[in-house]
Amino acid sequence: MQICIHRGSKEIGGSCVEVISSGKRLIVDLGLPLDAERNDKSYLPDISGFDGNDNSLLAILISHPHLDHFGLLAHVSSKIPVIMGVDARRILTQASPFLPGNWPVPANGMNLKSEIPIELGPFKITPFLIDHSGYDAYSFMIEADGKRLFYSGDFRMHGRKAKLTEKLIANPPDNIDVLLLEGSTLGRLEGNQHFPSETDIEKKFTDTFANTTGLTLVHTSSQNIDRIVSIFRACKKTGKTLVIDLYGAIILEATGNKKIPQSDWPKIALYIPQSQRVQIKNNKWFDLLKRHSKKRIFIEKLQEISTQCVLLFRPLHIPDLEKANLLNDALYVFSLWEGYWERDSFPNLRKWLKNNNILKISIHTSGHASPADLIRFAKALKPSKIVPIHTFMPEKYKDLFDNVKLHADGEYWEV
Ligand SMILES: [Zn+2]
Repeated sequence: MQICIHRGSKEIGGSCVEVISSGKRLIVDLGLPLDAERNDKSYLPDISGFDGNDNSLLAILISHPHLDHFGLLAHVSSKIPVIMGVDARRILTQASPFLPGNWPVPANGMNLKSEIPIELGPFKITPFLIDHSGYDAYSFMIEADGKRLFYSGDFRMHGRKAKLTEKLIANPPDNIDVLLLEGSTLGRLEGNQHFPSETDIEKKFTDTFANTTGLTLVHTSSQNIDRIVSIFRACKKTGKTLVIDLYGAIILEATGNKKIPQSDWPKIALYIPQSQRVQIKNNKWFDLLKRHSKKRIFIEKLQEISTQCVLLFRPLHIPDLEKANLLNDALYVFSLWEGYWERDSFPNLRKWLKNNNILKISIHTSGHASPADLIRFAKALKPSKIVPIHTFMPEKYKDLFDNVKLHADGEYWEV
């Protein structure tokens, strides 16, 4: 079995790995680099077969629905099967009309089921459902030529699904020849430090909601389902109503999981901001709107109950909030990776908060395992060799793990 990391050996995001056996090939993840300004074809790695006319390329495997792992699917032929989780596939497909700029709809292909192997040409692929901030996320074991590659994907052990990762390390596959191990948190967190758990985050939201006298604006990703659950549970504990928009409603529905909050649940309300109303009208999404309108409220109602509401905020809400005078005593909670704020990904929002005297606080935890948890993971899997991926600090691996081997982007190597 031959492997090439096309992107990711020394960066977070844009992961892409090619696996080769008996002249057949698999691509594992096809992500958009994090520093890409837009989803452009020029970022596509130089790999034969993306036009769909090379039958040595059997499929593209997507570990989870984060743009830095699937974004470049926008530029490959739909003749190439895309293998991924069924819920992740549904989320990407349903989100697509709402999101501008080459948001890809995955081509058809097999759906992953945790721990059920898929045989494809010379490859046997066993997926393991794992805890991550992206929904329906998998690690993969790929076997060919009597060798075993384990691709960690993105994972953590402090989220709402920590049990999944714990289950894997309690009962790991044996004889792993190579572990491609993500290391997003190396350089961000020291040896014994741990991230707050998603349960700690829920507690912080609960305390915050209990002490906010105006409307609470929580800025997070509607696709971070663990986080939405934390926010909703905090709402329930403090008697608040969670206000979502149509995009939020369709993503929650797309999880296909009846235990995840839905638009028709008690203590949930649907508010459609003006710009989304235009989008609905232009696209004639009237049935979609109707399906989610059981708990719909309009601006007058939001004004009436705003102090008892937590809005799942996106910048597109700003004109509505201003027009309706909803900013008295409002609190803005940033619940995304702090790096986005530090590198000024939201300059207009920053100005708007300042001009309107709105206090900003941050409540967040990482989607990635701490270095200490990465060590636990590697110790459990006992690979013969560890190769860094999805990290800015590949040289740090040698301080944490035995048998580390760095392989550069574009280098083909034998397992
Ligand atoms: Zn991810």
